[in-house]
Amino acid sequence: MVVFSTRTDIGLKRGINEDSMAAVPELGLWVIADGMGGHEQGEVASRLAVETLQENIRTGKTLEVGIRAASNVIIRQPTVNPAFAMGTTVVAALVEGNHYCIAWVGDSRAYLWNGGLSQITIDHSYVQGLVEAGELDPADMRTHPDRSLLTQALGVTDTRDLQIGIVEGDLLPGNGLLLCTDGLTDELTDDEIAACLAQTTDPEDAAQKLLDSALSAGGKDNVTLIWLLMK
Ligand code: CA
Repeated sequence: MVVFSTRTDIGLKRGINEDSMAAVPELGLWVIADGMGGHEQGEVASRLAVETLQENIRTGKTLEVGIRAASNVIIRQPTVNPAFAMGTTVVAALVEGNHYCIAWVGDSRAYLWNGGLSQITIDHSYVQGLVEAGELDPADMRTHPDRSLLTQALGVTDTRDLQIGIVEGDLLPGNGLLLCTDGLTDELTDDEIAACLAQTTDPEDAAQKLLDSALSAGGKDNVTLIWLLMK
């Protein structure tokens, strides 16, 4: 059985929370989206991504089909200010029994916790490309000035060109999945995230510690996270 806890917070510097999320345990679905675009367009894009994916899973579609449907919905959405593209990341977990499937676009992440923490998604970002090319130390991704440049996003990338990341696996009792936006991972190193998770087995405590730590570290962006723990 999975227990979970969620947090979303505007942070300390932003005037609006453009992150959206949904926890739908009856579908085994947990999803986070990080919108961008200004003029509240990011908020609209992330909400459309979460809602459209949820509808698709409810009618028996896969994560990949649901994410492509969300992409189409956002692309068709009229923009308030055409000077700013309306886009969003998405990261979703579908859990059935002890099996999980994660799908994502952009730099919102999933981590696996099994006593240690490992990132199981690969960011679709400019700095990830630099790391893969051997031009940037992974430790410097968090602070690189161009760290928020994405190589693909829902609403920006043509749906036919989307390369949706997929990773699957099994959860043992005591294992967990953390989904989060870059408002968490820009503020905290993986080691700092792991330290929060190691301190408690209570999901609410763990989620609150993560949020408090991100805000203490600066809270420069909206912070959204979902912590799932297999009991
Ligand atoms: Ca963000």
